[in-house]
Amino acid sequence: VENKKIQTEAEENLRSPICCIMGHVDTGKTKLLDCIRGTNVQEGEAGGITQQIGATYFPAENIRERTKELKADAKLNVPGLLVIDTPGHESFTNLRSRGSGLCDIAILVVDIMHGLEPQTIESLNLLRMRNTEFIVALNKVDRLYAWKAQRNAPIRKTLKQQSKDVQNEFDRRLMEVITQFKEQGLNTELYYKNKDMGETFNIVPTSAISGEGIPDLLLLLIQWSQKTMIEKLTFRNEVQCTVLEVKVIEGHGTTIDVVLVNGVLHEGDQIVVCGLQGPIVTTIRALLTPHPMKELRVKGTYLHHKEIKAAQGIKITGQGLEHAIAGTGLYVVGRDDDVEDVKESAMEDMKSVMSRIDKSGEGVYVQASTLGSLEALLEFLKSPAVSIPVSGIGIGPVHKKDVMKASVMLEKKKEYATILAFDVKVTPEARELSEELGVKIFIADIIYHLFDQFKAYIQNLKEEKKREAADEAVFPCVLEIIPECIFNKKDPIIMGVDVLEGILKVGTPLCVPQKDYIDLGRIASIEFNKKAVDYAKKGQKVAIKIVGTNAEEQQKMHGRHFDNDDQLVSHITRRSIDILKVNYRDDLSIEDWRLVVKLKTLFKIQ
Ligand code: GDP
Repeated sequence: VENKKIQTEAEENLRSPICCIMGHVDTGKTKLLDCIRGTNVQEGEAGGITQQIGATYFPAENIRERTKELKADAKLNVPGLLVIDTPGHESFTNLRSRGSGLCDIAILVVDIMHGLEPQTIESLNLLRMRNTEFIVALNKVDRLYAWKAQRNAPIRKTLKQQSKDVQNEFDRRLMEVITQFKEQGLNTELYYKNKDMGETFNIVPTSAISGEGIPDLLLLLIQWSQKTMIEKLTFRNEVQCTVLEVKVIEGHGTTIDVVLVNGVLHEGDQIVVCGLQGPIVTTIRALLTPHPMKELRVKGTYLHHKEIKAAQGIKITGQGLEHAIAGTGLYVVGRDDDVEDVKESAMEDMKSVMSRIDKSGEGVYVQASTLGSLEALLEFLKSPAVSIPVSGIGIGPVHKKDVMKASVMLEKKKEYATILAFDVKVTPEARELSEELGVKIFIADIIYHLFDQFKAYIQNLKEEKKREAADEAVFPCVLEIIPECIFNKKDPIIMGVDVLEGILKVGTPLCVPQKDYIDLGRIASIEFNKKAVDYAKKGQKVAIKIVGTNAEEQQKMHGRHFDNDDQLVSHITRRSIDILKVNYRDDLSIEDWRLVVKLKTLFKIQ
């Protein structure tokens, strides 16, 4: 009896699990969210679903009602389920609290017609990294050929009523997905066949269009959470809270949207949040939630609360919150707490980010919407395959001051005078200034796209520099005159040559190294097998035309100033070598570089 009592007490003291939806684009994350939310909202308040800030709350009663066909009669111990409204793994990475994931459980959506896709695997890795439980929703079952939909039916019931062909097709695709998960090192199984829950992850087939399988998904979410996470879901007084978004709301000034994971917040609480310029200590002016009948009222009406208990999505107003960073923790200064200690805790989240800034002071400027996405981007830029140094960071929209900061690189390293803006807006003033100063801004909402843009830009810059340098870069070559192929002795000199060493290239200045050296002019054209070519390689016999670039060179004549025994070589200089090194390092072979060294000695270049 005593045990039973303790258990009941514990159960009464559970908070709602927090759930988020992840998966590849177009798998139906938004639709699924609409589907679990929508059906009952249309039926009015009876469902008891409440729209919160950044999240939707489903009371246990609502879930019991919707799952009664499953005849689970399960005891639902948690008060309900809190589903985060923004799907996608960016939001997941932002939803952290004290270094661990904020979400208790996730729905990983997979399109049954497509199987595992790149972002499915990305999401999967994130979930594993954070040690977050998840359930696979194998969505769009209604797209199987000849599927007969039954609105909101449990999945087993609807599967039974499909034709043999549909069932076979379903089995085949399911097996394929299970195999794909196996390849990722993960055991998965249809949830009602899963005998090894815990080791083997559950798959729930769903349709966000017909609502089929949704009852199964909801019930499993609740049951699985309360079965495996009692400890985590036990209500505590210690506040655990994460900033989702910083927003300006008319009539309220700057507000922060938070998810209160555990504990209680009160109006007037002294709080500390992490800011880019340091910790922000302030007082909760108002605790707001949307009005339950919001649809019927004027936009922007909120309910005020004296206190709010977890788990809940809340809007908070207070002075100085405009500098808060989304994705960081919110801390309450308790009666016995030292503010300085709390400040330090609040800034803990920034440390990992600051440590990613390149010590050399050279690098691109990175701007992201939240700390979580900034971290993800920095992580990516640091990876060996990418390896782009970062000199500065910002969170939130790109403002003029960010452009100013990035422009410092114009002097140091032009290609780094770049802002990589991840999922943020650029203010018109910032855009204008960037164009004026020549700071490049790349915007994307997928990390890889940002990288691709930057890579293409760097490549372009290189090409451009190469083109600019082309005139001054001198490729090394040594030529032997073919005596029977002197076609024109002077102005222009046209003759056959044998490329003894190096690379013969149009534009190369040639000279004859005698006591001193005699400049002949630049190669205007090369002919190989009667066809004009841009360059010739060692061993090739070609005809060349040399055009003098000044009066003196134009005077130079075969048979008078030089003869068949003379070799012709590229006239290199200190500068031409430097340009070659910077722009054409990879275009020259080791042998070519040896020739450069040889010519360097010949021309007595230091
Ligand atoms: P998200 O990018 O993952 O949020 O995907 P959406 O929810 O925007 O869905 C992408 C497309 O797939 C939309 O055209 C949806 O109408 C469609 N869709 C989503 N779920 C289902 C489903 O279960 N069945 C069918 N037939 N279409 C779906």
